[in-house]
Amino acid sequence: MKIGIDIDGTITHPSSCFNYMNKYLGTTIDFANAAEYELHTYTDMEQIEFWEFMVKSGHESGIYRESLPQDLVKEHLWQLRKHYSLHYVTARSEAVRPVTEEWIKQHELPLDSLIMTGSHDKVQVVRDLSLDLFMEDRLENALQIAEETSIPVILFDAPYNRKSLPSGIVRVNTWDEAVQEIHKFAPTR
Ligand SMILES: [Mg+2]
Repeated sequence: MKIGIDIDGTITHPSSCFNYMNKYLGTTIDFANAAEYELHTYTDMEQIEFWEFMVKSGHESGIYRESLPQDLVKEHLWQLRKHYSLHYVTARSEAVRPVTEEWIKQHELPLDSLIMTGSHDKVQVVRDLSLDLFMEDRLENALQIAEETSIPVILFDAPYNRKSLPSGIVRVNTWDEAVQEIHKFAPTR
């Protein structure tokens, strides 16, 4: 079985980018009530302007460098890798591959396959790699993958994705729960 795994908010803790914004950009985001996924909505900038600023100022890389992994993600990824083929599929662009790979190594996670789409459309990657299951935190991505492909999606709960889900998507709170769901789809014994 081939598993596609998003990075931000799925491997990293979903509070990471909000904490970074509060620490370096003067925002006062309360993560527990952060109902908006898009970071620019917490500033007075438009989306394009915000990301141009983030890239130029080095803050985009900064967010990725300072993000923290979710609890037990390292242990679970190494364990899953014994049975399944793992593919990290991120909307980050190729420009930040070095900082992304460095972070993965720093946190001692397995690194076999890293696909950087540079956009939120991950459906083509699911098709190209014939993925069997996807792990994600962005609601719109989960919905699109579930609707346009037939594979199951595991959605990591976050304040910004709390809406009702169709039957092909299962919400989890932890990596422990996520792995239990994976084993339901593909028992290893
Ligand atoms: Mg994500």
